[in-house]
Amino acid sequence: MPPEDEQTRRRRSMVEAQLRGRDIVDERVLRAMAAVPREEFVRERERRRAYEDAALPISGGQTISQPYMVARICEALQLTGNERVLDVGTGSGYQAAVLAELAAEVHTIERIPELAEAARERLAEAGYGRVHVHVGDGTLGLPEFAPFDGIAVAAAAPGFPQTLYEQLKPRGRLVVPVGSARGQRLEVAVRSPEGPAVIHSVPCRFVPLVGAEGFGE
Ligand code: SAH
Repeated sequence: MPPEDEQTRRRRSMVEAQLRGRDIVDERVLRAMAAVPREEFVRERERRRAYEDAALPISGGQTISQPYMVARICEALQLTGNERVLDVGTGSGYQAAVLAELAAEVHTIERIPELAEAARERLAEAGYGRVHVHVGDGTLGLPEFAPFDGIAVAAAAPGFPQTLYEQLKPRGRLVVPVGSARGQRLEVAVRSPEGPAVIHSVPCRFVPLVGAEGFGE
């Protein structure tokens, strides 16, 4: 079997076993995860591990998140296809590509310029050139493109990121791992007139968010 078909087969079984087999039910998310070639977002030497049930190392000491966490974050945003979203922590660009399958306009921001550049190239090669890649401190959001219908943070925040919350539209959703550098819980906040309505979801472990409203350098 040619390698491409093998990867497609692995991708399908990842969706069934790791996503549908757990608790991911949003069909649009399942379809998006079945569409994005994760192997194109990992390092060459990690390609055969692309569909493992795990985060994998990328350059700069960072990681590409576990497929289940990417699906879980996307599902929590409850996207229907018309939204403008912000992805904080571009890393490999994988999560941004999945979001591009689910929303109309995707902005992604990365603090390490080399990672942002590599992600921009990968996204274009994989057919996701429509994703806008920015370099900067994502804890400050992207005021020039706010407000957003959804904001996904792929790095651990020490506390609730108020600045990002304020860049949401009314009823917009912010999904962010909050806790210590060692372990967090995924928080899902909905913007409402009474202030953030927060659901504390699954325990998780992400690399730290480094920035003004993140952990120090
Ligand atoms: N979503 C990524 C996962 C990347 S890991 C993927 O699918 O591959 C988290 C990323 O957040 C790292 O690349 C890290 O450099 C970046 N990061 C950490 N703090 C940040 C900040 N304040 N602003 C933007 N990016 C940040």
